[in-house]
Amino acid sequence: MKNKTIVLALGGNAILQAHEKGTYYEQINNVKKAVVEIIKLIQDGYKVIITHGNGPQVGNLYIQNSLAGEVVPPMPLDACSAESQGLIGYFIQQEIKNELVRNNIDLPVITLITQVLVDTDDPAFMNPTKPIGPFHNRKEAEFLKKRTSFVMKEDSNKRWRRVVPSPRPIGIVEKEVIKKNVDEGYIVVTAGGGGIPVINKGREIIGVEAVIDKDLSACRLAVDINANILLILTDIERVALNYNSPKQKWIDTMSLGEAKKYLAEGHFKEGSMKPKIEAGISFLENGGEKSIIASLFSANSSIKGKSGTTIKN
Ligand code: ADP
Ligand code: MG
Repeated sequence: MKNKTIVLALGGNAILQAHEKGTYYEQINNVKKAVVEIIKLIQDGYKVIITHGNGPQVGNLYIQNSLAGEVVPPMPLDACSAESQGLIGYFIQQEIKNELVRNNIDLPVITLITQVLVDTDDPAFMNPTKPIGPFHNRKEAEFLKKRTSFVMKEDSNKRWRRVVPSPRPIGIVEKEVIKKNVDEGYIVVTAGGGGIPVINKGREIIGVEAVIDKDLSACRLAVDINANILLILTDIERVALNYNSPKQKWIDTMSLGEAKKYLAEGHFKEGSMKPKIEAGISFLENGGEKSIIASLFSANSSIKGKSGTTIKN
């Protein structure tokens, strides 16, 4: 157990839950509860690297930007993503430090603003799928289509939302500095919200209007720093087969082969559980020992196999 490295991904939807308003205190409180469990892993001798989602938070920042646009120039999505890394990183960094102090552990915690490289030719740029920001009626959507370069898509309830590309992560720009800090024994919060998406432009990089799936970036990060375990924490206790149907069955463990079979059979929803399973599979195929999907509040018990769903060879 000693010296094993865990990349731990906290769900944005778990930090700001669907039934909550998303106040400062609600989000801090959720992080606080998650951190109590994470510190137990550190006490057990694990090295922990933390990443997190930002779906609801970046959506809120984007609403703030849209509504205040007449007064303060709105920021593009890559800048909102950077803001959300700072915001959520701050919550996590402060709560981890406080819990360490409560447990008399002296360890530095650092949040790194992280850029993640995507391919300019990624097919996702031709087919934006990731909904962000507020819902609009048809009239508002038409107006936005005319006045901006936004792609607007209608959902099943006749509501419209802006959709942006969700390209695959191909490299973490700050990989070396992340590794250095991890090797020093620091607790690092990094690649938040899937990382700020950037593309190559000659020898330089520039931000793009996209959102990278944080589960896929967590996998990239785990592979890049040779982690042993990928632990994805979300707002549900376990993974299910036939989810939300009368034949629903919760899973404790599955082999790599089973995970691939269930994925192909369509048990995992696009944009929520599917990328977690894909990340779990890809991590194992690239040298990882095990991937776990569990509730935000059960990091420690899931590592011990007492909760969550484990995928291993
Ligand atoms: P996060 O912010 O943690 O990434 P998501 O909402 O993206 O959270 O993903 C978690 C959600 O995935 C759960 O709340 C659940 O509704 C949904 N889900 C879809 N398919 C499944 C499944 N087969 N088993 C369990 N949960 C599933
Ligand atoms: Mg998600």
